[in-house]
Amino acid sequence: MIILNTCAALNDWRETHSLKSIGFAPTMGALHEGHLSLCERAKADNDIVIASIFVNPTQFAPHEDFDSYPRTLEADAKKLEQIGVDAIWAPTPEIMYPEGFKTTVHVDGMTQILEGAFRPTHFDGVTTVVAKLFGQVRPTRAYFGEKDYQQLQVIQRMTKDLNINVDVIGCPIVRDAQGLALSSRNAYLSDAEIEIARRLNQILKGAKERFEVDSITQLEKELKRAILDAGFDKVDYVAIRNASSLMPIENASEAMRILVAATINKTRLIDNMPL
Ligand code: AMP
Repeated sequence: MIILNTCAALNDWRETHSLKSIGFAPTMGALHEGHLSLCERAKADNDIVIASIFVNPTQFAPHEDFDSYPRTLEADAKKLEQIGVDAIWAPTPEIMYPEGFKTTVHVDGMTQILEGAFRPTHFDGVTTVVAKLFGQVRPTRAYFGEKDYQQLQVIQRMTKDLNINVDVIGCPIVRDAQGLALSSRNAYLSDAEIEIARRLNQILKGAKERFEVDSITQLEKELKRAILDAGFDKVDYVAIRNASSLMPIENASEAMRILVAATINKTRLIDNMPL
């Protein structure tokens, strides 16, 4: 496995694989089984696999955890090497955002609801960095986790709207044995907080059983109450939405997704599942 740190090295590497299919998994590092599942899927579908590790400053708001976000490049590289990833693209912020950088990629509408309502600058940071990464790596297929379900929908929209020639593939959420969705941010949780965090998935599963299309607002309210009762300090949203547009449900035949964001102490967790 090779670690690429400059655009020139990445370009050379890319040229030597110009006739091969390239699977790409963009990440911010602090890798866990969820990230590795994207690389495994990329390996199964493509000749060559590359993962990127870049903690992207533009997708964090000033009050968020950019500075404290875990950075574990050495351990990450070992994990990726072990599962047979061919290359890591690990650019610096100066490579990604050199002096004079002036472009923002903005997807309208879908980025202003749910996560976007609470993190207004987040998705512009994500779409801009992913568009850049796609331009640099020029993958055949790119793999994103359903863990960040709204992000996956936004990237699919961007790729289609800009005619970017990359197949964007969503991969299932990897959870621990008690159902907690793996996340680099789980590292911030104490043992007691992890126990609370694990209740979130149980509550969503319960919603699946009680779901009726006529009482969505009522169910959302009950779920919010249940999440607070389980020990969360704040619920940003619990929403049952159309699985692709993320807009409110208009009729019972739509594919639906339940999405949630809630905070324990200072740690904000997101989760979702199909209904
Ligand atoms: P991040 O490093 O948090 O930006 O995540 C990089 C990619 O890994 C994104 O596409 C995430 O959706 C995906 N990912 C993170 N956690 C999980 C998980 N538990 N299961 C599946 N994919 C995940």
